[in-house]
Amino acid sequence: MAEEKSGSVQNLMTENRVFYPSQEFTDKAKVSSRQQRDELYRKSVEQPEEFWADMAEQNIDWFKKWEAVEEYDFTDNIFINYYRGAKLNASYNCLDRHLKTWRRNKAALIWQGEPYEDSRTYTYLQLHREVSKFANVLKNIGVKKGDRVTVYLPMIPELAITILACARIGAIHSVVFGGFSAESLRDRILDSNAETLITTNYGLRAGKILNSKEIADNALAECPAVKNCVVVKRLDKDCNMVEGRDHWWHEAMAKAPLDCEPEQMDAEDPLFILYTSGSTGKPKGVMHTTGGYMVYTTSSFKYIFDYRDEDIFWCTADIGWVTGHSYVVYGPLSAGATSLMFEGVPNYPQPDRFWEIVEKYRVNILYTAPTGIRAMMRDGEKWPLGRDLSSLRLLGTVGEPINPEAWMWYHINIGKEKCPIVDTWWQTETGGILITPLPGCIPTKPGSATVPFFGLKPKVIRQDGSEAGVNEGGYLVIEKPWPGLMRGVYGDPERFKTTYFVQYPGYYFTGDGARKDEDGYFWLMGRVDDVLNVSGHRLGTAEVESALVAHAKVAEAAVVGFPHDIKGEGIYAYVTLKEGIDFSDELKKELVAHVRKEIGPIASPDKIHFSNALPKTRSGKIMRRILRKIAAGDVDQLGDTTTLADPSVVDSLVSGRQ
Ligand code: ATP
Ligand code: MG
Repeated sequence: MAEEKSGSVQNLMTENRVFYPSQEFTDKAKVSSRQQRDELYRKSVEQPEEFWADMAEQNIDWFKKWEAVEEYDFTDNIFINYYRGAKLNASYNCLDRHLKTWRRNKAALIWQGEPYEDSRTYTYLQLHREVSKFANVLKNIGVKKGDRVTVYLPMIPELAITILACARIGAIHSVVFGGFSAESLRDRILDSNAETLITTNYGLRAGKILNSKEIADNALAECPAVKNCVVVKRLDKDCNMVEGRDHWWHEAMAKAPLDCEPEQMDAEDPLFILYTSGSTGKPKGVMHTTGGYMVYTTSSFKYIFDYRDEDIFWCTADIGWVTGHSYVVYGPLSAGATSLMFEGVPNYPQPDRFWEIVEKYRVNILYTAPTGIRAMMRDGEKWPLGRDLSSLRLLGTVGEPINPEAWMWYHINIGKEKCPIVDTWWQTETGGILITPLPGCIPTKPGSATVPFFGLKPKVIRQDGSEAGVNEGGYLVIEKPWPGLMRGVYGDPERFKTTYFVQYPGYYFTGDGARKDEDGYFWLMGRVDDVLNVSGHRLGTAEVESALVAHAKVAEAAVVGFPHDIKGEGIYAYVTLKEGIDFSDELKKELVAHVRKEIGPIASPDKIHFSNALPKTRSGKIMRRILRKIAAGDVDQLGDTTTLADPSVVDSLVSGRQ
C-alpha cells in the first residue's frame, strides 16, 4: 500500500487498487464479513416486507404499528407507500425516546461556530427542551400540522432546533441554504406556499457578515402570504424588524412553555420539502414523508457509518442540503449519536480549519465532499500534517464522483491508511445513501461507490432498456422503491412522473450514468447528459477528469463535450492548477499527452482552458451545464444560474474561452 503514493497515475478504467479494512476495524464492525452482508442483502431484496418490518421495529419507536409494509406502482399510477396506517413522530424519535435511557445526558449536538470560542453542546435533554419550546413558539404564531415553514438559517443550532420543532407539530419544513439570494429564497417560499419564515439577523461566512435579514426582507416583499417571521439574533447587532410580522427568537422563546406533546403523524404524512441543488436545471421541490424516511436514515446511518455510542460523528454538509438533513440531524439523532455541526468553511481562517476541529473534538467519523478534498489537496499536505488526526476511524464522501487521486490523498493524509472510506452515492430524491461500501466488510476501490445498500436493486441499462454488460457504461436506474425514496415533487405530480418514471417504465431513473465492473461494483460516470460521444465512443466525463487530476500539477478538472466537425463531439477540459503552478502552453501539451497515455488517444482533450476557479453550485458541485454552453460558444443562454456559488467565475470563463 505504501508505494501507492498520491500522484501515481491511474484512471477509472484501469483503476485496480483494492483496500481492505483492517482486522481491528472488522473485529468491532456491525457487519464484519462479506457473507453476513450478502445474507442480509439477499433477505432485503427477496423478502423486503420482512426486512423493512425488522428495520422499522429495530430502529424506530411507533405510536401505532402498520397494516402493510411496502406498496407501490412504478409503472402506471406512480405511488410509493411504506408502513400504511402506522403513527410516529420524527422529533419524538430523535429526542424523547432517548430521555428514557442513559443517553438523556449524552451530547446530542456539538456546535462549533465560525469564531473558535463560539461553541455550544446540547445534551439530548437540553435539545429536547429547546425543540419543545420552539414548537410552542410555532404554535403560538398559528403554525399547524401540514403548514409549510421556510427556514433560511446558517449552520447554527437554531436550524436543527427549528426543523425538529416543525416535525414535532407536524409542520412541513423547507430549508433554504443560508447563502442563497433573495430571488432564490423568494422562489422557494412561493413554490412551497409557506406562510412562515425562520431566519437570522446576520450570518457569518469566512469572516464576512451576511445580511441575512435584509435578504429575507427583500424576498418577503414579494411573498405577501408570509404572516410571521422569527429572527434569531446571531450577532448582537440591530436589523430591520417589521411590526406585527417579525418576532425575535429569544423573546418568543423566553415566554414559551417547556412541554409540547409530539403530534401523532401518519407514516406517509410529509416531513419536509427540499429543493435539489440545481446542477442540471431548475431545482425541484423534493418531498419526503415521515415513516419510511426515518427508518431509512436511521438504519443507513447505523450500518454505513458503523456508529458506536462513544463516537463523535461529523458530517460537514450544510443542513441546507439533503446530506445535512439525513446525516447531521435525522439519522444521527434518531440513532442516539453525537452529531457535530460546524458553522464555518474549510479554509477560513486557515486551510486547516477542518483538522483543527477534528483535533479539538477528537472526531471519530468524518463525512465530507470531494470538492473540499480537492481544495485541500491544492493547499498541500502540510495542513493536515500539523494536526492530530489520530481519533479518526472512518471517513466518508458524498456529492460527486471522487477522483481516485483525491481518494488516495484522503486515504493517506487524513485516514493515515487505516480508516476505511465510504464513498456514498445518493441524491436529494433518495432520502439516504443507496450505493456504498459497508466499511467492515466491503473492500474499497478508489473512485467506486461499490455495492448497493440493503433493499436496493440498482441496474445499469442501455438506451433500449436492456441490461448493460460488464464495464459497459449506461443509465443507472433502480428497480423497486425503498423506504427513503421521495414521494413527490411538491405541487407538481406531473413533473414527478416525467422526471423520474417515464424514461424507463418500471424503474426509478436517477439521471446518472454508471458502469458495473466484474466484481459487481458500481462506478458513477457523471450525469447522463454529460456522457461524451467522441467519434462514436462513449466516455464518462468523470473518467477524463480523473486522468487529469492524476497529473501532479492539476488541482481540479471539469470536462465537457462541444460540437466538433469531424469527431461529432470534441473534448473541452477546464483545468485549475495546484498552488504556485503557472499556466503555460507547454503544460497544455503535457496534459494532453498525459490523458492520451492514461486512457488512450480517443480521450485526448481538444482544448484545455486554464482557470483559477470552476463554476460550482452552492453545495460545491461543478456545474457542467454552464461549462458546456461556454465551450459551445453559447454564452447568451446560460440558463438558471441562481444556484451558483460565485457567478463572477462565469464571466472570467467566458472571456477566457479557448
Ligand atoms: P439537480 O437535481 O437540481 O440537478 P443535483 O442532482 O446536483 O441537482 P443533489 O440531489 O444534491 O442535486 O445531488 C445528487 C447527485 O450528486 C447525484 O445524482 C450524482 O450525480 C451526484 N453524486 C452524489 N454522490 C455521489 C457519489 N458518491 N459519486 C458520484 N456522484 C455522486
Ligand atoms: Mg439531481
